[in-house]
Amino acid sequence: MKRSVSREPLVAIGARPDLAFGHTAAPRNRAPYARHVVVFTSGKGGVGKSTVAVNVAVALARRGLAVGLLDADVHGPSVPRMLGLLGERVRWDERDRMVPAENFGLKVMSVGLTTPEHDTPLVWRSSVAVSALVQLLEDVAWGPLDVLAIDLPPGTGDVQLTLAQELPIAAAVVVTTPQPVATDDVRRALRMLRESRVPVAGVIENMSYFVAPGTGAVHRPFGEGGGRALAAECGVPFLGELPLDAAIREGSDEGRPIAAMGDASHQTRFAALAADVLAAVQSPLPPERPRDAREVSP
Ligand code: ADP
Repeated sequence: MKRSVSREPLVAIGARPDLAFGHTAAPRNRAPYARHVVVFTSGKGGVGKSTVAVNVAVALARRGLAVGLLDADVHGPSVPRMLGLLGERVRWDERDRMVPAENFGLKVMSVGLTTPEHDTPLVWRSSVAVSALVQLLEDVAWGPLDVLAIDLPPGTGDVQLTLAQELPIAAAVVVTTPQPVATDDVRRALRMLRESRVPVAGVIENMSYFVAPGTGAVHRPFGEGGGRALAAECGVPFLGELPLDAAIREGSDEGRPIAAMGDASHQTRFAALAADVLAAVQSPLPPERPRDAREVSP
């Protein structure tokens, strides 16, 4: 029997006591339908992680790849808005699996699509959030994917660790802003990735500079070079800077991602980032060795 659309909670609390988790050295594969799993992560919220995840995923899809985007930011799912899917609610197929929403050539799943209203508060203990994510990996009719992109919650918590245990992650893309308050937390996130043996495609520095309309003067309100320096320090690639630009914010708020709907410079920028991510998953770097002198054996 088909489930009624949206009134049921996605996860009945305690419904999956059978969940047994793997470990990061030999992760399980809960997404065998995907050739490559790419996660987007950050140390801190508000640095533009979801914006980058959405636009890189759109740019990958524009290359003709089959791309799924899983919004794993279970407490603050913003992917539906950014892709113009705010009004969508989850549907179920005849095999009782959730059908991903689609827009801009992407298949999309988010807990934000599973609640009665798009702004229903998501007050979950982390064990429940993790069960919900496993459902979004296993009980969704994703179909075969070239890339499953996952927008992680910020930080280094249960969800990040669980996904590193449950999925063979081909590459992590780490988003930061330039200032030390952000890069301090990203350093922790990079360290967790290293300890979890997740290969890092690189660091993207967002909101790096602002070009004043009219004069064209370049301002760097959050300082200069923080993301590049962090990447060098941690021995991971630096994938470049993104401007602080009202068009990026407007595109996200209006569900018109600039990788598809923006001007040529934005489209080119995200196409280049997508190419970098693809290169990283196709020839993954080994997990970075510690560069910290204290960790290097004599
Ligand atoms: P996070 O996922 O790190 O919490 P978001 O991607 O949700 O961050 O971005 C936070 C806010 O900043 C959003 O309103 C988004 O539109 C805006 N934003 C992100 N990147 C930029 C940018 N480069 N220029 C202007 N606004 C941006």
